[in-house]
Amino acid sequence: MLAKKGGQSPILFCGNGGGKGLSAPACEAALGDMDFGGKLVDRKIIHIDMDAFYASVEERDNPTLKGKPVIVGGQPEKRGVVATANYVARKFGVHSAMPTVTALRHCPQAILITPRMDVYRSVSEEIMGILRRYAQAVEPLSLDEAYLDVSGSSLCSGSATQIARAIKADIAKTTRLTASAGVSYNKFLAKTASGMNKPDGLTVIPPTEGASFVQQLPIGKFYGIGKATEAKMRQLGVITGADLLKFSARELTFYFGSIGSWYAMLARGEDPREVVISRERKSQGCEMTFAQDVTDRDFMLKVLYEQVHATILKLEKKQLCAKSMTIKIKYDNFKQITRTKSFSEPLNLTAALEQVEILFDKADNHGKAVRLLGVTLSHIQKQSDAKQPELWRED
Ligand SMILES: [Mg+2]
Repeated sequence: MLAKKGGQSPILFCGNGGGKGLSAPACEAALGDMDFGGKLVDRKIIHIDMDAFYASVEERDNPTLKGKPVIVGGQPEKRGVVATANYVARKFGVHSAMPTVTALRHCPQAILITPRMDVYRSVSEEIMGILRRYAQAVEPLSLDEAYLDVSGSSLCSGSATQIARAIKADIAKTTRLTASAGVSYNKFLAKTASGMNKPDGLTVIPPTEGASFVQQLPIGKFYGIGKATEAKMRQLGVITGADLLKFSARELTFYFGSIGSWYAMLARGEDPREVVISRERKSQGCEMTFAQDVTDRDFMLKVLYEQVHATILKLEKKQLCAKSMTIKIKYDNFKQITRTKSFSEPLNLTAALEQVEILFDKADNHGKAVRLLGVTLSHIQKQSDAKQPELWRED
């Protein structure tokens, strides 16, 4: 049965019994079976994102933490950063990637917990296992986030909203943790939606509302638009999606390079990316924050060599190889740069060691004090596939 657009609200908030918005039947109808002339809007994509994942696991495993500000992250004296803060701590202005020392200045009473990655990883496996019961196409983005394509699903009478609701309930029952879900017709909108009503949210952006939703969206909330691009957008007078829409793809390419055409698509509420089924991670790497800032080139190169070596070994153990390398350098003023290079052939250890030095010199540090160095290898593939042409592309 075709669903008719009902209310005036551009977005349907479906609370989890918390009275956050429209009733379940209205939500169910929203992404029932809509026909938009075979365009990409007839897909049904769900984005699932666990709420304050690491911190929530800690709260679950230690009930005395309930109601208290919790920070999961590295030690301040080792210049650690916040991996996740719970919602109580966030009220004090603590957020992830903030240096722990700053976080504790914002919220001195916070309880600091060292990450237990093994535990988070095993909870993640449980969650991904649940997701795979609801869709064949599941694309994990990290331990606590994934896209699902449920376009052809017959579950829940084909209602993506009801599938999302069922997934949330299943996750809650199995792990005693809450997830937020976004439901829409592409990845960009589904991901944006899941972030809108956290925690324990369920937000639907139906095809009829995608374009108008995007128009009112602040430019900083667009997928892939970071602080620097946001500032540049503001200089061009772009504050919301409606402003972005005034620019053609050509103009945006002129201002932002090849990514400009992507922005033009987003401005129209479009995102053609498929949900890529993949159990393998897309990148592997490591990084290190120094206890004291470093300026010595030889020392930094030694650290990078070790990181490259360790990363290649990890990949080789899984019979994987990589065709891109990224180095990350964070300076003492917290400014961070990355340099990436892609190769036509997978990197072996010798080539990777050569290339990391080239990338490092490209960064042109000129004796600047460095607080963090990292290496990531991406465009990962199976060694056995390495000879075959590449059929997929990284986001
Ligand atoms: Mg999350």
